[in-house]
Amino acid sequence: MKKIKNNFICKIIEKDILKNKHIKIRTRFPPEPNGHLHIGHAKSIFINFNIAKIYNGKCNLRFDDTNPYKENIKYINIIKKDIIWLGFKWNKKIKYSSNYFNTFYKYAMLLIKKGLAYVDSLNKFEIKKYRGNLKKKGTNSPFRNRSILENINLFKKMKIGKFQEGDVCLRAKINMSSKIILMRDPVLYRIIKKKSHHQTKKKWCIYPTYDFSHCISDYIEKITHSICTIEFQENKKLYNWILKNINIKKKPKQYEFSRLNIENSLLSKRKIKILIKKKIIKNWSDPRLLTISGLRKRGYTPSSIRKFCYNIGITKKENLIQMSYLEHFIRNDLDKKVNRAMAILNPIKIIIYNLPKNYKKIISIPNHPKIKKFGKQNIILRREIYIEKNDFEEKNKKNKKKLFINGKVKLRYSYIIKAKKIKKDRLNKIKTIYCKYYNKKQSKKIKNNIIIHWISKKESIKANFEMYENLFTTKHPEKKKNMLQYINKNSIIIKHGLVQKDIFSKILKKYIQFERIGYFFLKKNKIKNITFTCITKLKK
Ligand code: ATP
Ligand code: MG
Repeated sequence: MKKIKNNFICKIIEKDILKNKHIKIRTRFPPEPNGHLHIGHAKSIFINFNIAKIYNGKCNLRFDDTNPYKENIKYINIIKKDIIWLGFKWNKKIKYSSNYFNTFYKYAMLLIKKGLAYVDSLNKFEIKKYRGNLKKKGTNSPFRNRSILENINLFKKMKIGKFQEGDVCLRAKINMSSKIILMRDPVLYRIIKKKSHHQTKKKWCIYPTYDFSHCISDYIEKITHSICTIEFQENKKLYNWILKNINIKKKPKQYEFSRLNIENSLLSKRKIKILIKKKIIKNWSDPRLLTISGLRKRGYTPSSIRKFCYNIGITKKENLIQMSYLEHFIRNDLDKKVNRAMAILNPIKIIIYNLPKNYKKIISIPNHPKIKKFGKQNIILRREIYIEKNDFEEKNKKNKKKLFINGKVKLRYSYIIKAKKIKKDRLNKIKTIYCKYYNKKQSKKIKNNIIIHWISKKESIKANFEMYENLFTTKHPEKKKNMLQYINKNSIIIKHGLVQKDIFSKILKKYIQFERIGYFFLKKNKIKNITFTCITKLKK
């Protein structure tokens, strides 16, 4: 496997290896099972699994499951499916933070015994108030000086369910005036009683926080490089404080890289949940989302996502990647894998009046313009054909590359036609265009480089095309206070058009390129309902 570009983390690891710091490199991917994975997670997965592979190490999959209120077994299942689909294999058995609940409890007791943790009886609003802010120092809780013995007893009582949710919590005793707010006596344990845990059921009613469980889980799993996103930079102080104070030797180290953001899209799980709740999208696998399940439904391939992750590299800089960059990789991937065919999204009829009524010309064309081994297909030219509405304009303005009255175009894989007159319906809409056909010999004498695609009426069948646009009209919706104002109301457009009758013999593994339009994925194939999803349009 190729090493990821611009990689400061690999440089650190290579130095560590030179210094003989580790026997085996170990990384982990720690998703919280509170939603589907998205393309940002794919970046994190790629980094963690890629690093483990290139240094002959291992990457664990660990579910960070310390909040039963937000988690669900259905998310565990989809996350496993998505990682496998992306093409990665985790080390041995799946790990869960909840596997280590006993150990967390033991270390919490150790901190209490060292006078470094206490049971606080302030409620969550009071804790927030006492914590202060960037301008105001925090205030000690009136319960901060409880004796070690009292704390031991209270913590035991917490564990056996003697308190109600929110009554008490366990806090680290660090520094209420720390410049880093997170270090002002952070909560280590809280009570959760009203919800059963998907793994441990009702066994526990106290749950460690992310900060307390994450560093210890990394330690237990012998993680050497705990790689996460930049927003955890401040948490690192706490990560190291906990590891220092639980008396262990080989400590894992945390390294941060910048989160992936993509223009006109949204990655935060919390915000995706809002879109689902407001019925703006159907579910987590809506093809307009950049969730892994959404991308799969849209027709993205795992290899295109991996190549994208490889090429964006790893840095610490904040970034906003263009959607077109992601699209570039799926186009590139499919270009070499799929056949070409013709489809008309907005059909308009042409009668080539100088061809006989029963005219039929079989034209043999390549399935792929560059790759011979893809073979050939036949298309048939007849007197009545369909072209795209967009390829015709009654009056040609500013030399647009279109067919117009008395103008000429070349039919793809055939010869030149000239539009002579049009017939309109009662609503003044163009119904038919009458064209003159020039045969091979005549066509050769005519200079023309406008080529349009077409399908003979008799060789066509109806099909639907789901065309997608960005979900948001603003580049960085996550930064907007009211992101809902920026929803693109036209992000799905369904076209009712035509495909070649023998289309199914051309589709490879559900993929096809419709010439001059884009790459498509076969979604439904029922006699009266053939539907294609547009993965991405061709580059203009
Ligand atoms: P979100 O903010 O999207 O809800 P999260 O950070 O809460 O995501 P987790 O399940 O906790 O989601 O994330 C698992 C791992 O994936 C973490 O190490 C996290 O840093 C990483 N990750 C999450 N979002 C991104 C992103 N946009 N780019 C890169 N890595 C990410
Ligand atoms: Mg998280």
